[in-house]
Amino acid sequence: MEIILTEVTKEYGNFQALSNITMHIPGGMFGLLGPNGAGKTTLMRILATLLVPTRGKVEIGGLDALRQGAYIRQRLGYLPQEFGFYPSLKAFELLEYIAILKNVSKSQRKSQVETVLAEVNLLDQAHRKVGTFSGGMRQRLGIAQALLGNPELLIVDEPTAGLDPEERIRFRNLLARLSKKSTVLLSTHIVADVELCDSLVVLERGRLVFSGSPVELAARASHIVWQVKVPVEQWPEVERRYTVLATQIADGTVQARLLASDPPQADAQPLAPRLEDGYMAVIQNHQKQREESHA
Ligand code: ADP
Repeated sequence: MEIILTEVTKEYGNFQALSNITMHIPGGMFGLLGPNGAGKTTLMRILATLLVPTRGKVEIGGLDALRQGAYIRQRLGYLPQEFGFYPSLKAFELLEYIAILKNVSKSQRKSQVETVLAEVNLLDQAHRKVGTFSGGMRQRLGIAQALLGNPELLIVDEPTAGLDPEERIRFRNLLARLSKKSTVLLSTHIVADVELCDSLVVLERGRLVFSGSPVELAARASHIVWQVKVPVEQWPEVERRYTVLATQIADGTVQARLLASDPPQADAQPLAPRLEDGYMAVIQNHQKQREESHA
């Protein structure tokens, strides 16, 4: 499902949570990446037609989000950051209840609930109370409820926060699989979460600072990623001067991965950029531009 945003701004009082965002979501799996406070939830809620922008236009599947919100809501599933549970209900009961709220017809209710439970691999837990579920199982149940009604668009806001690494990987794979059928919008502050996305944007302080594929984001750090080895005594100076991405200490030597536009030392080794490097480069560039414009 194609989504087009044109010059979207959201103000809370005189604070701009989103500034003039123009972007195109072609479909597939789409990531919204940015640090806390970047405006991701605000944008997700606008796309879920739960929040009205102060200015700008939002088109979802050819419909105008401001005027045709009710039609759009019938075609989307939403997993908010805080998904309320009824801990004493069993998974099956909870989903049946949500299916009623979503106007799924009585004749289809049972089979749809079974289908979505199977989709997220929870069918064998259908009769267990949701209060006993692990974090990963809860998030999968959250996706199951969002899938009721066969939405063309699935919006999931920071779904991997609080999951352990194994659950996170499984959850990402689930979203990637679902994106073959529906458009999936995923917001996150964890760079690795967007590895499987077809395309993504990076937001920083309400501004769009990157738009492209994961490979293109990594390429933003081409020729500026280095590995250096320095004695521990010299480390504070290196740390002060450069953006450090990772360090390892052994035998009085610090080995570090860092960003620098020129070789930081004569024996520095150039490294191939990874997604995290590109993300840091983009964020840092934007911060620098902001500081310069305020200077
Ligand atoms: P993210 O999801 O990227 O962490 P949010 O969209 O939640 O970012 O918030 C973006 C900014 O807008 C933050 O600075 C936040 O404090 C502010 N904000 C969010 N909601 C409100 C609100 N209802 N009133 C005032 N400020 C808000």
